[in-house]
Amino acid sequence: PVRVRMAPSPTGSPHVGLVRTALFNYAFAKHAELTGRGGTFVLRIEDTDKERSTEESYAAILELFRWLGLTWDEGVEVGGPYGPYRQSERGELYRDVLASLRASSYTYDCYCTTDEVEARRKESGSKVMGYDGFCRELSEEQRIAFEAEDRRPIVRFRMPEGSITWDDLVRGEVTFETQFVPDFALCRANGDPLYTLTAPVDDATMHITHVLRGEDLLSSTPRQIALFEAMKAIGVAETTPAYGHLPYVMGEGNKKLSKRDPQAHALAYRDQGFVPEGLLNYVALLGWAIGADRDVFSLEEMVEAFDIADVNANPARFDLKKAEAINTAHLRMLPVEEITHRALPFLKAAGVVSDPVRDADAQLLELAMPLVAERVNKLAEVADMLGFLFVDEADFTRDEADVAKLLDETGRGVVKAAHDAVAALGTWSTQAIQDALQATLVDEMGLKPRVAYGPVRVAITGRRVSPPLFESMELLGRERSLARLASAL
Ligand code: GLU
Repeated sequence: PVRVRMAPSPTGSPHVGLVRTALFNYAFAKHAELTGRGGTFVLRIEDTDKERSTEESYAAILELFRWLGLTWDEGVEVGGPYGPYRQSERGELYRDVLASLRASSYTYDCYCTTDEVEARRKESGSKVMGYDGFCRELSEEQRIAFEAEDRRPIVRFRMPEGSITWDDLVRGEVTFETQFVPDFALCRANGDPLYTLTAPVDDATMHITHVLRGEDLLSSTPRQIALFEAMKAIGVAETTPAYGHLPYVMGEGNKKLSKRDPQAHALAYRDQGFVPEGLLNYVALLGWAIGADRDVFSLEEMVEAFDIADVNANPARFDLKKAEAINTAHLRMLPVEEITHRALPFLKAAGVVSDPVRDADAQLLELAMPLVAERVNKLAEVADMLGFLFVDEADFTRDEADVAKLLDETGRGVVKAAHDAVAALGTWSTQAIQDALQATLVDEMGLKPRVAYGPVRVAITGRRVSPPLFESMELLGRERSLARLASAL
């Protein structure tokens, strides 16, 4: 049965690249499940780097996956047969495996300092970075001499001679000549295990069948495959997983999207009011397509269609405009009640409604949401658009730039005429308001609708972009509408 894993390191704020890796693993597992091959999606946390790992980042990663609905079957918080799923809690396992490896010829103790290695590299003029194998065949006397100098050894993996080849699920056949893959450290001098050891040990002991991850990890794959051979020999691993490396994601200026890039922070999309459906759909397009000329699809549709062989090995370009357009498409597919439900946290955070929502506000919201549901591209915009309706009159303010532009002398003249036209109205309804304003501003004064309604809109809603004007005035009510038209003068 197919078993895949997500193995984020909880350092910093989770990245869009992590969403892409998680999504492709999820789709791969769920597609396998759909087609009767079983599919388990594991979430493991790689927090062996104590200096860089934080609880805050750990919590953010879980929050992100929960928001996205990328539910993991096994892993942290939910448990499973091969736990614990935080590497910081698996130290004993790594120590045991390290001891077994050390007892074999697959590793050797290395006493060199990085400075010594670097000095030797400079002297020899070698182009190969990394360790030169100095301690590979240390004599007993040399070892005793080093120990006498109080040096503590690290354990290095002895890369085999020749080459390592695998059939990459995305890139096809990949070969590394091992003369260019230096022997690598498995632990620090204090015995703490490194990623080089922990990831393959966990992939082995968690019975991971397919490793799908970013291309940045491509160069660690020959090492991991070599380590798997050793682990199979000592009975720690059964089989080597298949590997697939997802293409780089390029940001501004065709540079790799990096943590410093504001567009890279995955939770920022939630905070701006992307819907998870939209972000997932966009991220799916970073290296994959459901079909020619089709950009918008659901997670279920992706799962059904997903084949790792279709993933493009070429770098993908991150395009924020496209992400926003796709998000809008998903927002438009949601029923108004659902948009209201999802917009509530934004309305509360912006202070548009109180928490809990007062009954009167809930009723007003139900009437107002249909006016904005089709106009917003992100949930946070609901708060911007509806604020004018819920605000206490004393706190009502207008956008300064919009006021400067539209409530100049001419604009104020229009607002004055609008005020007088609606003040006399018998019934306060959308239709009556529209008829009155049309008759006065457009028919009598001869103004173009845009010139006529712009100033009125800024007077009433405080902004140039708002829900439809006449409906807004009806919802706002006669008294407040007239007060705002008057206060704009
Ligand atoms: N923990 C690694 C990272 O965050 C991923 C390791 C892997 O997928 O093999 O980059």
